[in-house]
Amino acid sequence: NVRVRFAPSPTGPLHIGGVRTALFNYLFAKKHNGTFVLRIEDTDQNRYVEGAENYIIDALNWCNIPFDEGPGKNEKFGPYRQSERKDLYKAYAEELIATNNAYYAFDTAEALDTHRTEHEQNGKTFIYNWHNRLKLTNSLSLSPEDVQKRIEAGEDYVIRFKSPQDETLHLKDMVRGHIKIDTNILDDKVLFKSDGMPTYHLANIVDDHLMEITHVIRGEEWLPSLALHYQLYKAFGWDAPEFAHLPLILKPTGKGKLSKRDGDKLGFPVFPLEWIDPKTNDVSRGYKEDGYFSEAVINFLAFLGWNPGTEQELFNLEALVEAFDIERVHKAGARFDPDKIKWFNHHYMQEQNNDELAEAFKTDRDELKDIDVNYIGMAVNLIKERATFISDLWDLSHFFFQSPKTYDAKAYKKAVKDDTKALLSELVTLINNVEDYTTEALQNDIKGWITSKEIGFGKVMMPLRLALVGALQGPDVFEIMFMIGKQESIQRIEQLTS
Ligand code: GLU
Repeated sequence: NVRVRFAPSPTGPLHIGGVRTALFNYLFAKKHNGTFVLRIEDTDQNRYVEGAENYIIDALNWCNIPFDEGPGKNEKFGPYRQSERKDLYKAYAEELIATNNAYYAFDTAEALDTHRTEHEQNGKTFIYNWHNRLKLTNSLSLSPEDVQKRIEAGEDYVIRFKSPQDETLHLKDMVRGHIKIDTNILDDKVLFKSDGMPTYHLANIVDDHLMEITHVIRGEEWLPSLALHYQLYKAFGWDAPEFAHLPLILKPTGKGKLSKRDGDKLGFPVFPLEWIDPKTNDVSRGYKEDGYFSEAVINFLAFLGWNPGTEQELFNLEALVEAFDIERVHKAGARFDPDKIKWFNHHYMQEQNNDELAEAFKTDRDELKDIDVNYIGMAVNLIKERATFISDLWDLSHFFFQSPKTYDAKAYKKAVKDDTKALLSELVTLINNVEDYTTEALQNDIKGWITSKEIGFGKVMMPLRLALVGALQGPDVFEIMFMIGKQESIQRIEQLTS
């Protein structure tokens, strides 16, 4: 029974890389009929940001990848906020002390700084582990009575993991395969602090165990913690889950890791939803507010680290669940290409339900306030293949709703000649006489008339288009004439040469 979790820390808005992690967890869970858990890792109270948890949940919902279990939902392994599980971690830290896998340490920050500087001056790096553990102030170098006295006196302490000497660890990662680590380079990581809070490492392992997580899928930045996590499972005598570390997301140039600040610098969003910083009121752009469809964002993110092994690029969520295979996640960094997401958006724009597009377009533009949404839908249908965003629709379709206010100067010069006025007035008579005012009839009659006059099509079609649209662009002229109706068409034609 597959159980995976997405375990963000609510330290700010969820970066697009976090959404990618959530997505891969979701796809893996759904692929195996498993459960997708959301756990909020908020043990570091100093970094807690108001509103971040809601943002995370809103972002998952907008992307259509909701969690099955988490805060406020199917809480059978709850609570799912680590701050609400605070009281259960201490016993686990103490268990590790009892089994000689961890110890109390009383070194002050200043003392550790001094050690670090001394080492640096001798050209060495200071690692708190077997090298110098006995020279430092901890329960392995002090008498048991001293340790007891210090704790009782309320002195600040931490509980550190006792990393073994001269061992080789064999770790397994679903993306990277076998990884060998020499324990001599590992430090004795802090697991618990005297403020009663566990660190990320302890809380994360205890919760993954208690929540019966079978697969840990997370970003590559956690790979250096894997050795410690393996050792913690071993020290507790628990089975470790399987691990998969997803590749880094690189800047559009391919050089360096994409950062939260790149969005503003490079002019594209790096967040799913807009975020207003509660302290500074600074606004960070979001894909949703910038007019992207969640299907496009999801399809794009799926390809950051994974590919189906075929040429196919378009996958909706259902198709992704079907095709997803964690074995096909690669370890090379994935370049973030903001133009590619536009390409996906153009595709999903075409896939949108037309009525919903029309509604959204109507809401987007004041000019459409009083216009029948069915009419808007018909117009959208004629031009949407050229649109990437809803905000592109007006420039492509305004002539369905308003007569041109000006004419493009270059187009006017090209389209309007000495004989144009006379031709258009004949055209108006013809349109007045069209029996059944449909696109087909207009096309037949007007084209037939031009042919019979033995003049070039452009002589009529260019000024006609200019009169209707204001420029030499747009969809089929006869469709436009049909849409705006006979009266309006005639008025616009007469307007051009009046
Ligand atoms: N709280 C960690 C984070 O913010 C979770 C890492 C993990 O998935 O183990 O990414």
